[in-house]
Amino acid sequence: MKIEVLEKNETNLRIIVKEADVPLMNALRRIALAEVPSMAIDEVVMIENSSILQDEMIAHRLGLVPLKTDLDEYSLPEDCDCKSEFGCPQCRVTLTLNAESEEGTRTVYSGELVSENPAIVPVAEKVPVIKLAKGQKLKLEAYARLGKGKAHAKWQPVCVCAYKYYPKIDVPKEKCQDCQKCADICSKKVLAMKGEKVDVRDLLACNLCMDCVEACPKKSDGIKVEWEKNAFIMNLESNGGLPPERVLQEATKILDKQLKDFEEQVKVEIQ
Ligand SMILES: [Zn+2]
Repeated sequence: MKIEVLEKNETNLRIIVKEADVPLMNALRRIALAEVPSMAIDEVVMIENSSILQDEMIAHRLGLVPLKTDLDEYSLPEDCDCKSEFGCPQCRVTLTLNAESEEGTRTVYSGELVSENPAIVPVAEKVPVIKLAKGQKLKLEAYARLGKGKAHAKWQPVCVCAYKYYPKIDVPKEKCQDCQKCADICSKKVLAMKGEKVDVRDLLACNLCMDCVEACPKKSDGIKVEWEKNAFIMNLESNGGLPPERVLQEATKILDKQLKDFEEQVKVEIQ
């Protein structure tokens, strides 16, 4: 298997994976979405709430604020040695919020949450939590825990995790009339005119929609769009809690563990 990095930054990872197959790519995609843990607020104790939103609504909104995640320091509550429903410093982070509007109406943002661990804080400071009118107060204690996307979407570490086939485009030089119809219809601007000739400008942007093939007046003799059976372009966009490459690494570890568990079970059951 060969991997080539197309783009990598704090939140986005785009790679070409060659010599792989659909079941593997899909398993990794599903694990990244549903099984790689991330941190989110899971329980809120209201101390004072004189705002117009109910406690449950505020708790729900806080749950959806993406938090920085540390998978090395914290463990999932179900795997933690404490076995306590309240959690312990290894499986729980406390954040507090104490907001009040003294003058006029103001918006309370995620940046006002104070965490006991400076490494576990909201990814963005400007996520609106609530609007307070003059004299209204909101005081609460929130507990963040690791969790999995399959239990609640707030624990999904990625906003996007998708793959597509690696495209193959062939413009037959002799038969193509260079009518430009294929270049005009392509919404992804994959094709462009290079002088008089149709040229593939950005192959990787192709999403195999086949609009160009349908627009080509030469039909079966004209432009051909196909895909490589064993090559994929994978795109992973993290919500900022974990670096995208870490999400992918964790996904492969989880897949590995699931296969090992399966192997063990086969050994035990089929003797
Ligand atoms: Zn614990």
